[in-house]
Amino acid sequence: MVIKDMCMFAMGENKESAVKVRQGEIVEFYTHDCFNDQITSEDYVMDTLDWDHINPATGPVFVVGAKKGDVLKVEILDIELADEGTMCCLPENGVLGPDITDSQVKKVPVKDGKAIFNGFELPLNPMIGVIGVAPAAATVACGTPGTHGGNMDNTKITKGATLYLPVFHDGAYFGCGDVHACMGDGEIMVSGVEIAAKVSVKFTVIKGTSIENPRLEDAENIYTIASHADLEKAIYIATKDMCGILQKELGYTLNEAGMLMSAVGNLQFCQVVDPERTVRMAIPKTICNKVI
Ligand code: CA
Ligand code: ZN
Repeated sequence: MVIKDMCMFAMGENKESAVKVRQGEIVEFYTHDCFNDQITSEDYVMDTLDWDHINPATGPVFVVGAKKGDVLKVEILDIELADEGTMCCLPENGVLGPDITDSQVKKVPVKDGKAIFNGFELPLNPMIGVIGVAPAAATVACGTPGTHGGNMDNTKITKGATLYLPVFHDGAYFGCGDVHACMGDGEIMVSGVEIAAKVSVKFTVIKGTSIENPRLEDAENIYTIASHADLEKAIYIATKDMCGILQKELGYTLNEAGMLMSAVGNLQFCQVVDPERTVRMAIPKTICNKVI
């Protein structure tokens, strides 16, 4: 199934036009970059950007069989990148925003497995910035992360990883976009190497268990993910969620699960620049290989 030429600027919108997809089938999403492909050259004047139409997600799709309270398992099978990415910086945006006097656009060619930045060959880490389902509330702008996923900007949501999302509405209404050719943890200037892409995923619905926040696994680790306007609260939620997993899977008390996390768990920034901040807690699969 190919999903293209349909986009949403808020998770939970356009439910009436959702395309039905089946569990197990390969679904390919053609995604625009986070600027909705508006920035066509380094001469682009940022003041002309239509800010009401940024952070598009391709979708939504209605996953047949997904019911409210289930968990949607999303296997990231592949991410194919376009051949040029875009970065920008803007006054008042990002960690260095207070120091920025002039906005700037940079075009970043992507070829032969590298992103070329001022002559540096940066290794690619194709990752999905915006990915999620319709939230419990009516809609949430795609630029904002939350319990439904959204703009988590998590460098670990990449080919080979499996994301687990809460299902708040029958069908889930999944969408994704905002792919980055590469991005550093934290995304300190608010853009990674933003790029159009084709994302291939496979859905499975997990019954009989619910989660409150997104979770993730890759070859090495399991992760809990949390977003909150207050970074310290995001840290608490991600840590508490992982504590719950370790207590359940290892039969540990809270004290012992906490000490184990303090010994081998890695608390990591996803992004610190979006309307809500996102962090993750990573535990090696040698310690615990079940995230659900
Ligand atoms: Ca983003
Ligand atoms: Zn982005």
